[in-house]
Amino acid sequence: MSPFLNACRKAVGDTHVMTDTQQMQAYLTDRRKRLTGKAQAVVAPGSTEEVARIVRLCNQYAVPLVPQGGNTGLVLGSVPDLSGNAIVLSLKRMNAIRALDADNNTVTAEAGCVLDDVHAAARKANRLLPLLLPSSGQCTIGGNLSVNAGGTTVLRYGTVRKLCLGLEVVTAEGAVWDGLQTLYKDNSGYDLRDLFIGAEGTLGVITAAVLGLYPLPREQHTLLVAVDTPEAALALLARFRQHYVSSLTTFELISRHALALVATHFPSLPLPLPLRYAQYALIELSFTEPEAPNTDSLEALLQAEREKGVVRDAVVSQSPSQSRMMWQWRENISDAQALAGNNIKHDIAIPVASVPAFLAETDTLLQARFPACHIVMFGHLGDGSLHYNIGAPEGVPDEDFLAWQADINQLVYDSVYRFSGTLSAEHGIGSMKTETLARYKSPIALDLMRKIKAALDPHGIMNPGKIL
Ligand SMILES: Cc1cc2nc3c(=O)[nH]c(=O)nc-3n(C[C@H](O)[C@H](O)[C@H](O)COP(=O)(O)OP(=O)(O)OC[C@H]3O[C@@H](n4cnc5c(N)ncnc54)[C@H](O)[C@@H]3O)c2cc1C
Repeated sequence: MSPFLNACRKAVGDTHVMTDTQQMQAYLTDRRKRLTGKAQAVVAPGSTEEVARIVRLCNQYAVPLVPQGGNTGLVLGSVPDLSGNAIVLSLKRMNAIRALDADNNTVTAEAGCVLDDVHAAARKANRLLPLLLPSSGQCTIGGNLSVNAGGTTVLRYGTVRKLCLGLEVVTAEGAVWDGLQTLYKDNSGYDLRDLFIGAEGTLGVITAAVLGLYPLPREQHTLLVAVDTPEAALALLARFRQHYVSSLTTFELISRHALALVATHFPSLPLPLPLRYAQYALIELSFTEPEAPNTDSLEALLQAEREKGVVRDAVVSQSPSQSRMMWQWRENISDAQALAGNNIKHDIAIPVASVPAFLAETDTLLQARFPACHIVMFGHLGDGSLHYNIGAPEGVPDEDFLAWQADINQLVYDSVYRFSGTLSAEHGIGSMKTETLARYKSPIALDLMRKIKAALDPHGIMNPGKIL
């Protein structure tokens, strides 16, 4: 046993330093099983002070560390490289909810808390933590903050950055910064909290956070609406925004091709609308006020939009189970796509008003260059972020298709940047998109990012090879 690992055992206890390859496997392999990295050990501290001790040891012995929460990230950010030099620092044992203040509408949770557990604690206090991700049963608060997670309610509540009031962080040199404030305003200098949010573990280890809570909705309505074009979906979004203002919590756009994949691979799921329309919007309204509008006013709005030719067909959920079923159509798209074969994914964002023009132009360019490729588009039209995934044309073997990856990525990202968008809406950069980031981000922005990294992590031990 190396002196470094001996010191780690002393710091956190023998049982919390794992070195057996078999045992470490789940921590070393990414969620989509694209990479199994190597590590000296998986170390799982149980307190902020233990995290600080391990980080100080990493500095002393020049050992890189890869912070990890639920390991559900999609860009190879939470797994080590193949060198075997690093340790994985698992935050899973730090899973206490330290405080919940219903009057201040805040919850203070440790980084390893699973998101669903924080939802449950908030619900018990009649409050909502409006961060809804399909991975909420496994992902953690520290991971959510480190990738600035989004989800399906961003148009109403913003990303987790907007929900975060304070952080506790172990710096890259092993000091504890207690920034766990519950203030809604603080202009006392640089915003350190915002530096660590979205940093993907490259600047420090988040050990706890204060998150803002909202009232639980009293009533919710889920709708699936068929439209002919993304322009029509955008017009409908504007109408709902104007009519429902703060009650509109979700507005997702789903192409027919995406729904058709779900129909093929989940044949027992009842389809709420015929599959003959080009686009579908999954909409959710959440009412917190005591006097919730009844569905008649909703039906009247839909009828007016039908008469204008914006809406082609629509169904409004009549029960929680019907609403759940509609959501399953949205949530099963990724799994259906995986079952359909390899695809090349893009997690992009475009200014909301430009989404239809972006889709028209990019679809045309792709079809011209890669005829009959399958474009599976779905995403959060309400905030402009899209999953724009490309599947192989019929009869093209996977190896040939994947050989097109660099060209497809360049075509898509060139188009994204022509429309003033971004190559990562919510999943981050990890080690998967570092080259792409270097190509599209401005040199000045990259230079500032490198200077921040060098200032906060002078020995370069924090998640090396990620982002930059
Ligand atoms: C089925 C599925 C659906 C998803 N849907 C969405 C979605 O709708 N919206 C969305 O935004 N994302 C989505 N994601 C991806 C999303 O990134 C993660 O689910 C989640 O936010 C990551 O949390 P985690 O605890 O698993 O982090 P991990 O995967 O463990 O880590 C993610 C990154 O954060 C770093 N990190 C983790 N914990 C800490 C810490 N305490 N301190 C410092 N750095 C840390 C890691 O080093 C890594 O770089 C989805 C993922 C899956 C599998």
